[in-house]
Amino acid sequence: MSAPQQNEVMTLAEWEEGWQQGMTGFHVHTVNKMLEINMDKVVAGRTAVKFFIPLCGKAVDMKWLADLGHSVVGVEISDIAIRQFFEESNMSYTEEPVPTIPGAKVFRNKEKTVSLYQCDIYSFNSSLEGQFGAMWDRGAMVAINPNDREKYAALINSLMAPGCRFLLDTLLYNPEHYTGPPFYVPNEQVRTLFGSTCDIEPLQEEDFLTEDFKSWGLDSLTEKLHLIVRKS
Ligand code: SAH
Repeated sequence: MSAPQQNEVMTLAEWEEGWQQGMTGFHVHTVNKMLEINMDKVVAGRTAVKFFIPLCGKAVDMKWLADLGHSVVGVEISDIAIRQFFEESNMSYTEEPVPTIPGAKVFRNKEKTVSLYQCDIYSFNSSLEGQFGAMWDRGAMVAINPNDREKYAALINSLMAPGCRFLLDTLLYNPEHYTGPPFYVPNEQVRTLFGSTCDIEPLQEEDFLTEDFKSWGLDSLTEKLHLIVRKS
């Protein structure tokens, strides 16, 4: 028998349609509190850190990181999300095709501190922007199709520079009660996916049972933050 949720699938077209119809309930207008609280653990005394933000949407965290002097590379399938990010951040931007990925585009602000790739995450690779010193995953691991987690972790691993500090935000709930997305990600799976290449430290757990989730049938929901540090 397959694990609950394992065969749940959401297509790229469905995500793009969600953006077209403004069905983006996951978007938050303020900087993520867990990121803010744990920034010193991610940055670890470094300046101008190169951040990777998979499945970035139009997260305002990206502008916040750039304003702090870091650089940001994000990947997102919807150009609506990307354009809205730059417009709502009051950043002018350029857009260019990505020669090595058919159909993909990269959008950058004038200072080139924020570069957002419009493509499927699995087309992105280290030949485009090299490896990263930090990563922030909120709404990515929980959004990808559960069957793709090994592929996703392999990509993340290939993009981590030695010592890379990766903040991973997951959700824990009873998958018998709700199909997702967002999907639940058991702690054991985080260890299986990253434990051989990285040190993993639990940082924070918060009750995240909002009215929305209650109305979807959940009676408990925990948001869990992991710090995953690539071994040298
Ligand atoms: N991290 C953002 C968005 C989370 S929702 C936030 O916290 O607000 C997941 C996002 O990933 C959506 O914007 C969706 O359009 C995008 N997405 C889903 N599957 C993708 C894929 N395979 N490649 C690139 N982007 C994808």
